Amino acid sequence: MAKEDYEVVMGLEVHAELSTKTKIFCSCPTEFGAAPNTQTCPICMAMPGTLPVLNEKVVEYAVKAGLATNCTIARDSKNDRKNYFYPDLPKSYQISQFDKPLCEHGKIEIETSNGKKTIGITRIHIEEDAGKLNHDEFGGGTLVDLNRAGVPLIEIVSEPDFRTTEEVELYLKKLKSILEYIEVSDCKMQEGSFRADVNVSIRKKGDKKLGTRTEMKNMNSFRSIIRGIEYEIERQIEVIENGGKIEQETLRWDEVSGKTFSMRDKEDAQDYRYFPDPDLVAIKLSEEYIENIKNDLPELPESRKQRYLEEYKLSQKDANIITSSKYLSDLFENAIQVCKNPKAVNNWIISDISRILNETEREPNQIPFDAKQLGKLVILIDKGTISSSIGKKVLVELFEDPRDPEEIIREKGWIQISDEGAIKEVVKNILEANPQSIVDYKAGKDRALGFLVGQAMKQTKGKANPQMLNQMFLEELKS
Ligand code: ADP
Ligand code: MG
Ligand code: ZN
Repeated sequence: MAKEDYEVVMGLEVHAELSTKTKIFCSCPTEFGAAPNTQTCPICMAMPGTLPVLNEKVVEYAVKAGLATNCTIARDSKNDRKNYFYPDLPKSYQISQFDKPLCEHGKIEIETSNGKKTIGITRIHIEEDAGKLNHDEFGGGTLVDLNRAGVPLIEIVSEPDFRTTEEVELYLKKLKSILEYIEVSDCKMQEGSFRADVNVSIRKKGDKKLGTRTEMKNMNSFRSIIRGIEYEIERQIEVIENGGKIEQETLRWDEVSGKTFSMRDKEDAQDYRYFPDPDLVAIKLSEEYIENIKNDLPELPESRKQRYLEEYKLSQKDANIITSSKYLSDLFENAIQVCKNPKAVNNWIISDISRILNETEREPNQIPFDAKQLGKLVILIDKGTISSSIGKKVLVELFEDPRDPEEIIREKGWIQISDEGAIKEVVKNILEANPQSIVDYKAGKDRALGFLVGQAMKQTKGKANPQMLNQMFLEELKS
């Protein structure tokens, strides 16, 4: 059979670290990047005799996520123990949720190149993160860091509704932006606070039964997710074409070799011997509690997008890009507050800022400057203090060492030359040096004017006011 005769089926389990101040069952801080084991206590280190107490904020955040993804919220839920041994899990069980998750039966809509598609969300449950193993980092051997042990997570499990990598990417981006908007997770993929387990199977087109899936664990960049899926599809087709069988297993994606490796045979739920955690009480939510959270939900990306189309007349494409990230969207709105020029802010975000993010493989939440600085940059150009080409240089500075744009241009001597005498001087010099252009212009070659302006810009290192240059060249050429 050819590749086209197979259908690919995928389902995603997304883990998002919640941005609560403290851990899920103790009061240790959750902040990322502290020295190993400095954010631990007897509870998250699993000392015998300690007891967990559920952090109420975790429930609130999970309910928020459930409501924002159209889930039904369970009035009656509980925590279960998922038993397995691993050195980063000192209790030898993870407190998670088994048969009574907080949220179920949700959906997220995506806009693919073939139109709208709805992806089903099976469930969202709360659980604790495990610690981290540092291999060979401190001179050989493996050391355990328990700062992450007990950091609250929500796991968002999708239905096996994906058929293409495009759908996977769009869904992940949408989900990520929703979680950012409702401020339950910072979704920093590079810090592992938004990561996905990707389940992939193939079947003959037209088959009703799903094929056997493999699962790639803890993928934390869009690039690896797409590459991993593509590799896995090829591999599975090859196995089947050669008369083999896909084993249900857990895989590790290796970014360097661009291959998947087997980590272990896939466990079934029964292997985990789930049972209700006897140290924790059931989670009972009132209708009123859920209603209150619902009423407090902030504006979601879809609604912001509509507003941008109407209020600021943005194009569909630009509105999609800006609202895809809360960081970009907030940057957009707050910079407009400063400079009152939505069109200019839109252009900066869509073109130069997006390009620099791309080139430096950064995400919007890693933009180092703030909305006020961007707004001021727009004002400086609008007032004619700097030209837009100098503006581009200021933006690069803002990425490298964010500070007040006015300070940057003063420091660098980038203030635009708008002094009539000085500009006249430049125009004279350039005309003297380029007599042929004058002849050309007079012979009807309009391009010659552009050339002269370009030369003048070059001589002044982009600092001359372009409108004034244009006008003066025209005057001189006419006389
Ligand atoms: P586990 O934790 O054991 O992986 P879950 O039920 O939490 O099990 O998640 C299973 C994930 O795999 C879901 O996202 C589901 O949509 C997806 N899935 C299940 N069966 C298949 C399949 N045959 N092909 C692709 N994805 C699948
Ligand atoms: Mg799984
Ligand atoms: Zn603790």
